[in-house]
Amino acid sequence: MTHASIITGQAIAAELRASIRQEVDRWPADLPRPRLVVIQVGDDPASSVYVKNKVKACEEAGIISEHRRLPADSTEQNLVDHIDRLNQDSQVHGILVQLPLPKHLSASKLIDRIDPNKDVDGFHPINSGALFSGQPRLVPCTPAGVMVLLEHTGFNLRGAEAVVVGASNIVGKPQAMLLLAAGATVTLCNSKTKDLHAHCQRADVLIAAVGRAGFIKGSMIKPGAVVIDVGINRLDSGRLCGDVDFESASKKASWITPVPGGVGPMTIAMLLSNTLKAARRTF
Ligand code: NAP
Repeated sequence: MTHASIITGQAIAAELRASIRQEVDRWPADLPRPRLVVIQVGDDPASSVYVKNKVKACEEAGIISEHRRLPADSTEQNLVDHIDRLNQDSQVHGILVQLPLPKHLSASKLIDRIDPNKDVDGFHPINSGALFSGQPRLVPCTPAGVMVLLEHTGFNLRGAEAVVVGASNIVGKPQAMLLLAAGATVTLCNSKTKDLHAHCQRADVLIAAVGRAGFIKGSMIKPGAVVIDVGINRLDSGRLCGDVDFESASKKASWITPVPGGVGPMTIAMLLSNTLKAARRTF
């Protein structure tokens, strides 16, 4: 069996970021430059790294970004007031509340407070509703990035069997909606799914978003399938790995994403793209 071709998310994301940079460079002088504000509550080290990467990517693309650190013991009212001020500020186009939040805060309550037109994570119920009714506005970054990767393989999704393993609000569910909109026949699996093997083995396109290292083995993959690994898991050794066992899966798949360097860079590129969209208001 031949080895799969690698979907080079890193390179595809770099191309997208360069085209965003070009558009920002041509931004009309009389309009406020695209601006993203990222709110981090507390100082969770993993969140700090994610936010730092987002801010750096914005800088490289010419998008103005602000990292607002609020104390871990901030009250919900405090955050609601903060979000309200950003909603009112015409210089701010994108607002992102970095998750996870400290336990005493309700993520859904705060996300619901963000102006849907500035919700660059695409998690607001207005934006999920728009996606579910087939009129996408601001779409969650990771599944949107996966669609760009699929496009790059040249694989025709119309009529294809697509299986998504993992049904979270931020990845699996919106992913299923995007695949459906592209004409695929979609199966959305969760932890209660009976005979996951059988579902996966039918998949022409298999998306893994579970959060368990090496969970999808080569034996679960249909020969020639396109395999997208959304998972990011840190092993005890410190090494990052995906939800797909790359070694065995790459012997069966036609195309496969690596971890790192696959879906991850696309998530950030799509955040920039959503910020630009929000600044243009072209949705
Ligand atoms: P999550 O909220 O924990 O959801 C995991 C999903 O997997 C749930 O729907 C769960 O089912 C399902 N699941 C768990 N065990 C399963 C099993 N044995 N069989 C089938 N389904 C099972 O996770 P998430 O936020 O979607 O993230 C998933 C992974 O993607 C994580 O590794 C995360 O780090 C990664 N991620 C990566 C990016 C990126 O930029 N590359 C972005 C976001 C997330 P139930 O619904 O039944 O609980």
